[in-house]
Amino acid sequence: MTIDLRSDTVTKPSKAMLDAMMQAKVGDDVFREDETVNQLETRVAKMFGKPSALFFPSGTMANQTAIKLHTSPGDQIICDKFAHIYNYESGGASFNSGVSCKLIEGHRGMFTAEQVIEAINPDAYYYSPTRLVEIENTANRGGGSCWDFNDILKIRKVCGDNSLGFHLDGARLWNALVVKNETPKQYGEVFDTISICLSKGLGCPVGSLLVGDEAIMKNAIRIRKVFGGNMRQAGFLAAAGLYALDNNIERLAEDHKKAKEIGEALAKLAIIKAVEPIETNIVIFELNNDVNEKAFIQKLKDKNIHIIGMGTNKLRIVTHLDYSDAMHEKFLGILKKSQFKSNGLKI
Ligand SMILES: *Cc1c(COP(=O)(O)O)cnc(C)c1O
Repeated sequence: MTIDLRSDTVTKPSKAMLDAMMQAKVGDDVFREDETVNQLETRVAKMFGKPSALFFPSGTMANQTAIKLHTSPGDQIICDKFAHIYNYESGGASFNSGVSCKLIEGHRGMFTAEQVIEAINPDAYYYSPTRLVEIENTANRGGGSCWDFNDILKIRKVCGDNSLGFHLDGARLWNALVVKNETPKQYGEVFDTISICLSKGLGCPVGSLLVGDEAIMKNAIRIRKVFGGNMRQAGFLAAAGLYALDNNIERLAEDHKKAKEIGEALAKLAIIKAVEPIETNIVIFELNNDVNEKAFIQKLKDKNIHIIGMGTNKLRIVTHLDYSDAMHEKFLGILKKSQFKSNGLKI
């Protein structure tokens, strides 16, 4: 039994999801004739109470399109220093849109309205014009942390007062909605654009969407084309998304529960310095300084358990829909039975 906890992107479509995909009615989406894609876009737009949604091959492309829609070259955007758009999108903000990022020193990937105010450039010709505030919920590098909705509302006000766009990277928004008992509509009311992923916790093989208001979204399809993201019979992929929206949202609570239990087991280990607070499906923990990260990862690998390092002796575990109860029991059993030495994991 291979236990892969490197990411919630490692899931494979279930039999039922594959069946739904096989039965999809498709057409050429460049002609906007794929009825399953159209159905998914309409459904997601409605969920968020927004007029428009567009299907993308990746969350990166959806985010990059949003940045392009909100900015002109030379502009500046505000985001957390942990932001996916800054760290993990290959420098796309500068490559695609010619913008720079003003980084906020947040807490677990989240920041305050006051920090946004401080980060806005003064209105003088020698400054880069600030155009957009971007937040991530849940915040990936923040350990799957969830924003307090009141903090989001305060930032919305700052954006309104300063004519700034407000974009949400909601790759894992579903996890936050489940934990906080919030609704997509709440988020639709507050943000100008929102990207969401189907290929993370929801278990689809491919797919993201960008939702937004009419005025900004009318150019989104052109930007997607410029980025090479137009697809043809994409309804096979959209069908997986529709299936996931019906079946895989509420169950995220199981992933969260498992993540918490893993965190509790890890916290008892002598070789671990700290486990970050666990709110959703991500567990970030730090090894003691004298513990070799590579050796620790390798020892788990020898047991067929795969996790990844994030640098600076921090490691990440992500639970997901292909991490079964049996795998969970086995992993917890190993953690409980194990004796740990400073040179790694001794089982
Ligand atoms: C995964 C992820 C994305 C999008 O990634 P893709 O692999 O391009 O789909 C965007 N933001 C966050 C926070 C993510 O975790």
